Amino acid sequence: MFAKQKKIYSIIHQKCPHCHEGEFFVTRNPFDLSKVGDVLPNCSVCKRKYESEPGFYFGALYVSYGLAVGLCIAIFVAVYVLAPDTDATTTVWWVLGGLLLSAPILYAWSKILWANMFITYKGVEPVPGEDLRWLPR
Ligand SMILES: [Zn+2]
Repeated sequence: MFAKQKKIYSIIHQKCPHCHEGEFFVTRNPFDLSKVGDVLPNCSVCKRKYESEPGFYFGALYVSYGLAVGLCIAIFVAVYVLAPDTDATTTVWWVLGGLLLSAPILYAWSKILWANMFITYKGVEPVPGEDLRWLPR
């Protein structure tokens, strides 16, 4: 559906942002709560490290916040449009329920979105002069 070499491919298929072939997460199931959002140390195909420095994924919380706010607005609008007679308390429960159910998915998406902001597609083969911080030592 989405062509390789586009960031959306890596995000939708949860693949390595660098080569779009190796897996990014330990598990692809976002509801495996013991492993949700756990990122592999490096790509199994191109061997690039996924964490360039300790705490690299702390920045993903900003992405997660943005996704959560967008989801809350979407649920609110959906409830308002589909059931306009719903009272405010019920609407809040719908929003909180949707947010709670989608939290593991948003957590995983925030990490792969964050990684895709800093890692660009370069294919499987090493590129001359590429930043070696992404390679395992
Ligand atoms: Zn890779």
